[in-house]
Formats: sequence, structure tokens, C-alpha cells
Amino acid sequence: MISDNLREVEQELRDSCALVSRQRDEVTLVAVTKTVDVEKTSELVDLGVYHLAENRVDKFLEKKEQMGDFSNISWHFIGNLQRRKVKSVINEIDFFHALDGLKLANEIQKRAEKTIRCFIEVNVSGEASKHGISPEEVEQFIDSIATYDRIQVVGLMTMAPFDSTVEEQHQFFKTLKKLQENIEAKNLPYAPCTETSMGMSNDFSVAIQEGATFVRVGTALFKE
Ligand SMILES: *Cc1c(COP(=O)(O)O)cnc(C)c1O
Repeated sequence: MISDNLREVEQELRDSCALVSRQRDEVTLVAVTKTVDVEKTSELVDLGVYHLAENRVDKFLEKKEQMGDFSNISWHFIGNLQRRKVKSVINEIDFFHALDGLKLANEIQKRAEKTIRCFIEVNVSGEASKHGISPEEVEQFIDSIATYDRIQVVGLMTMAPFDSTVEEQHQFFKTLKKLQENIEAKNLPYAPCTETSMGMSNDFSVAIQEGATFVRVGTALFKE
């Protein structure tokens, strides 16, 4: 049952925050609805979860339209976004979690009709299969989009490899947090960079202990 799953996730969110003396409201639960239909998605919204994430353009657009009755939803796009699809999706979302290069930034700048809140995806683990900018190149990348008035860098995003140990997860999330804080300290008007999007079903507790402000949780909410 989704309500039972949500109760368990909320408990783990609160416990994880308590471990490091953080408040529950410092962390936004983003529900990843990519594997479920509109009915299950609506069930979760009825339980009070208003931040929803999708990772495929076509499925996202279809779901957003079908969910039209709920006006208070914030839509997050968390997937790799091909440049040719930017136009159809960028003005439909509230947060984009996967900005990973200048070509994509160019396309967003060209197609966006408002300022888009973006997370820069960082490949902290160095895994070849992962998208994202290497930690060493993030600050230079941010400098290079200083004049892009349609992009606001709200924070950094990362994913720990699925097979990493808990110690490794701590290390990856700690690295992202430190990078985020370094950028925040620059007080760049176009890159406040106050947020970190890190932690999924299997590692969000670790991410919260390391300072995550947005966690992206799918399986734990929708498992049967
Ligand atoms: C699918 C996905 C998630 C959620 O993963 P779960 O393990 O199901 O919680 C989070 N972030 C991204 C980028 C995803 O693609």
C-alpha cells in the first residue's frame, strides 16, 4: 500500500534528520513516479506529496496532462535530456536536475520562456557510465553560463553507483555537499547553489546525513 510505504519513508526521513540534528522540513521529498501510472501517482498526491519527478519526456508530458486537475504539483525532470527534446519539456517543469554540459545549457537558454531552476549533475564517483560533469570542472562550467539569464543554478545533483558501499555513499555525498557549499559561498546571483539533490530509495538516509536538501525516491514509495 502506498500509504504504508509513505509512512515508512517519512519515518526514515525523520530518523535520518534526527541523527544529524536537522529538521525534517530542510529536506524535500521528491517522489519519482516514472514506474507508475496516473492512478498511483494521484494516490500519492492525495496523501500530500506534491513534488513529482519523471525521467522520460513523452511519459512526463502525458502524465502532466492527465494530472492536470492537481494545480499544486511541482514537476521535476530528473533524466538525461536530449537537446532536440528541450523545447517540448523545458517550459513544463519547475526543476531540472540533469544539466550536464554547455550544449544543453545553450539549448535551454534558447528555448526557455522563463528562468529555469536547474541542478548541475555532477559525476562524483567517476563511473564511466554516469552522466554529469566532473567535480573539477563544475566551477568553470558555472562561470561559463554566467550570462545565461534563463538558467538559475539552484544546486548540484549526483547519484551514487548502485553497488557502492555505505562508506562510499558517505564519501560521494560529502564531496557533492562540499562542492555545493564552495559555490554557494561565491554569492553568484545566477547561481545561489543552496541545494543538493542526492539520495534515492537505497541511500537517501546517508544523503540526508551528509546534507541533502532534495531526495529522489521511487521504489520505496511504490513497491508492492
Ligand atoms: C529512478 C531514479 C530515482 C529513484 O530511484 P529509486 O531507487 O526507485 O528510488 C532517482 N533519481 C534518478 C535520477 C532516477 O532515474
